Amino acid sequence: MLLEVDDLRSGYHGLEIIHGLSLTVGEGEVVAIVGANGAGKSTTLKTIVGEVKQFGGSVRFGGSAVTHGRSHTAARRGLMLVPENRALFGSLSVQDNLRMGAWGRGERRGFTEEEILDLFPILRERRQQLAETMSGGQQQMLAIARALMGAPRLLMLDEPSTGLSPKLTWDVFHAVHAIRERGVSVLIVEQNAQQVLKLADRAYVLESGSVALEGEAAGLASDERVRAAYLGY
Ligand code: ATP
Repeated sequence: MLLEVDDLRSGYHGLEIIHGLSLTVGEGEVVAIVGANGAGKSTTLKTIVGEVKQFGGSVRFGGSAVTHGRSHTAARRGLMLVPENRALFGSLSVQDNLRMGAWGRGERRGFTEEEILDLFPILRERRQQLAETMSGGQQQMLAIARALMGAPRLLMLDEPSTGLSPKLTWDVFHAVHAIRERGVSVLIVEQNAQQVLKLADRAYVLESGSVALEGEAAGLASDERVRAAYLGY
């Protein structure tokens, strides 16, 4: 497995939010995490990259441990998180943001800048525009594109559809599909369970910091409990 999270416990200021969570992502897999507001989805991703302190359990990426405070090391190893707030360099152009993303790529081969601009044509048109003047959807594209410049082995996306129109959400999901076609694994957190379960191979349903259900995405999409709680039909 590329990512192995085992019996993970983590939280903030001594308060445990994640209570013994285990999940895996294999090479080339798209795995979704769905769950209600406050279930601990973002905290899980932040703990995986080492931004939030582990209280117990383990996170292994490519066979070795990821530890707290080492998110730059994790990125250099190809474990990349696109956070919900996108964390762009607002006063830099689209192109400069992309080039900053190539930092830490090392010897890993991935998408070229041209291939990334093919994936997100809007960014090609707006190469010279400042990131902070882009629309929310464009910024989301840029954040994903910048992460791809780092040639990730595992790309983690935290609620990429937040604030996007249905059309832009479709564009983002389409990009995820193309990213997977290139062999990059994806771990994606989404409130939009209906759409993400169509995209993912497998999914985990989080409730109050623990995995309530897990399995093939198609199976979960037809599970009565998932439908009632998250899909609204
Ligand atoms: P959402 O869909 O609303 O983003 P989520 O499932 O991603 O929710 P988290 O953001 O992981 O949930 O939050 C889980 C819990 O951790 C919440 O109760 C939240 O208040 C708490 N929490 C998140 N960040 C912090 C922080 N920096 N300090 C203290 N508590 C936090």
